[in-house]
Amino acid sequence: MKIPLSRPELNEKDIEAVLSVLKTPNLSLGPKIGEFEEKVAQYVGSKYAVAVNSGTSGLHLSMIVAGIKKGDEVITTPFSFVASANCILYVGARPVFVDIDPFTLNMNPDMIEERINRKTKAILPVHVFGVPCEMDRITHITSKHKLILIEDACEAIGAEYKGKKLGTFGLTGVFAFYPNKQLTTGEGGIVVTNRKKVAELLKSLRNQGRRGSGRWLSHEILGYNYRLSDIHAALGISQIERIEEILKRREKVAGYYLKYLKDIDEIELPYIPKDSRVSWFVFVIRLREGYKKKHRDRLMKILMEEGIECGNYFPPIHLQPFYRKLFEYRKGDFPICESISERTIALPFYNYLKKDDIERISDMLRVSIKKI
Ligand SMILES: *Cc1c(COP(=O)(O)O)cnc(C)c1O
Repeated sequence: MKIPLSRPELNEKDIEAVLSVLKTPNLSLGPKIGEFEEKVAQYVGSKYAVAVNSGTSGLHLSMIVAGIKKGDEVITTPFSFVASANCILYVGARPVFVDIDPFTLNMNPDMIEERINRKTKAILPVHVFGVPCEMDRITHITSKHKLILIEDACEAIGAEYKGKKLGTFGLTGVFAFYPNKQLTTGEGGIVVTNRKKVAELLKSLRNQGRRGSGRWLSHEILGYNYRLSDIHAALGISQIERIEEILKRREKVAGYYLKYLKDIDEIELPYIPKDSRVSWFVFVIRLREGYKKKHRDRLMKILMEEGIECGNYFPPIHLQPFYRKLFEYRKGDFPICESISERTIALPFYNYLKKDDIERISDMLRVSIKKI
């Protein structure tokens, strides 16, 4: 009886939606893309949305439309999926990390300003695990220093900061639709923006640098093939139509975990901000301070042997082998991020994870923790 870490939820309507596209000749550049974009824009409250073939592609294009280039610096977090820093490298710029807040696990706004210099062009906050960054403080800093704001909201569709949906605070916001995300298109992503010119440029960039009205073989700028197919978009439409239902389900699953795990003294539970809405992406607990990586790894091994799949989200980006090589980062550079990432465990988490399974996972955790 294995319990997976994550599992996409596809219903009959999703399957029908995909099949219906397969019966048309419009497998790509058809009507489903625009429909998907409109629905996402409407849901998050942005004027425009441009669908792409991954969240990473969306982040890359965001760097380009922001005009980030060689010699520039972009401030971001080391506690994230590697793509959020890689996109800065794609345009030849330098990611400048700031350490994280030990509660939200997001970049610590207190530490941003000391990293700003003449080369700084943008701030790229990541709403890690669907928990909103402190956007009041971050937007205050970006406007004070005239910096561009790009949100990596890849883990946070539907999350809100003081009643405003994430992804809509800056020049662009990016969402991702890999199968472990709240909403999936198989592979896919979308960039939202309120600026018409930016949306037009994004559409050209994803389509080999073509302009909307231009001839098929006329390429006006250096572009990419980052298009999302209509097959994927159809799945996205079907999913965005029930996104609130999905988010409520996930909130319920998180609620069961919070209830069953609250009396385990050895662990800390996910932080839930008061004035914001979390969009539950994963359920990550951590061993209390004092525990070490070896304890976490032992605990994960025991759980895995019991058929409970878990993950170590996230190893610090600055300690990834090629970041170490490129920038000579060392252990100790971002101590809070490092200490926390050695103690985190992502537990199984998906829409229809059963209450009984959550109870079993929690009991197993309670017992196993005594053996590490
Ligand atoms: C999932 C994710 C991305 C993008 O992922 P893709 O697999 O390229 O869609 C980017 N940043 C973060 C923080 C993510 O979790």
